[in-house]
Amino acid sequence: MAVHLKPETIAASNGIGTDPSFRSIAPPIHLTSTFAFQGFESAGTYEYSRVANPSRDMLADTLAKLEGGARAVITSSGMAAIDLVLSRLGSDDLVIAPHDCYSGTQRLLMARQERRHLNVAFVDQSDSAAFEAALSHTPSLVLVETPSNPLLRVVDIREISLSAKARGAKVAVDNTFLSPALQKPVELGADIVIHSTTKYLNGHSDVVGGAVVLADPILGDDLARWANVRGVTGAPFDAYLTLRGIRTLFARIERQQRSAGLIAEFLSGHHGVVATHYPGLTSHPNFHLARRQQRGAGAMLSFEIGGGIQAAARFADAVSVFTLAESLGGVESLVAHPATMTHVGMSEEARRLAGIGGGLLRLSVGLEDAGDLIADLEQALDVARGVIQRPSTTFTG
Ligand code: PLP
Repeated sequence: MAVHLKPETIAASNGIGTDPSFRSIAPPIHLTSTFAFQGFESAGTYEYSRVANPSRDMLADTLAKLEGGARAVITSSGMAAIDLVLSRLGSDDLVIAPHDCYSGTQRLLMARQERRHLNVAFVDQSDSAAFEAALSHTPSLVLVETPSNPLLRVVDIREISLSAKARGAKVAVDNTFLSPALQKPVELGADIVIHSTTKYLNGHSDVVGGAVVLADPILGDDLARWANVRGVTGAPFDAYLTLRGIRTLFARIERQQRSAGLIAEFLSGHHGVVATHYPGLTSHPNFHLARRQQRGAGAMLSFEIGGGIQAAARFADAVSVFTLAESLGGVESLVAHPATMTHVGMSEEARRLAGIGGGLLRLSVGLEDAGDLIADLEQALDVARGVIQRPSTTFTG
């Protein structure tokens, strides 16, 4: 058996055929809250599912291997994963976070700061002078989100890790937008990788979950213990579904990314579109960095529609293959309006600083036919611009 399996092989086969009871090909699901002791004062491998569960461990093992980490901790949501990392900090600790991070992350950091659990500085991490200035305050943790949600800005994980670690800070990268299929932060120097497994890893929009992958086994064991203490470990059924989703991660993302590239080209050439944000476009300010750092540009993009929020609203009402919804990374294509949906929790000022305006729309590109997706965007752009009326939704037959 090969020692160094390719990630595609790990995703498809880790744990397959290992069931000791009946040799089932798919690893069995262990829907149980507790496990029988072998005898008095003699627990078996497992005791209680909040502490550990075989279905959750199988997912953790697969994710740790895919990310090249020592250990993974599976949590009940992506926010629980971020909070698990933050909850090891104290009132003397400083976190440097991106000024344009996911608004849930921003809300959590601010709430923890208000309660004096930590201190936070939101910094444009692509501005090296601003980043260096923030590092001079000796942070304990640098949180990175690349590509960022929703503007797809890309920052240099290797450079950030080198500078941050030289000052004694740990580096955590939220890898939700790309997954380990397209980006491996640990190889680039990060200590911690965070996931909302709700997105690409599960990939089917039927689970909310999260994960933290640790490069250091000691930190991994510590966080696993702490996840149990705080009771934020994920449910076995969710772990089972997420592992099932990971089986097809590489095939899904490859095709979704191909369609996203075609859509980005279409949008960037459309006169109703003011700007298209996609790291695979040569016009993207971090195109070369993304090429170096990522194995592909991914299947998320955003664009500014001409005509601001009114045009965005008409567009969102007019799509029919895309669905107006929050979240991303599933097999179905979704459109979101960050200013009124995913990022509504941010103050107007924070949105303005981050560059999230009323005309910004975010697309998560799914597995539908790329031609159907582009035709849908084209007709919705026409509706938004008043070129055509909203198509009738009357069904016949
Ligand atoms: N990180 C990023 C980049 C996200 O986009 C999200 C959710 O959209 C989260 C974390 C939070 O994940 P969850 O919704 O699973 O709690």
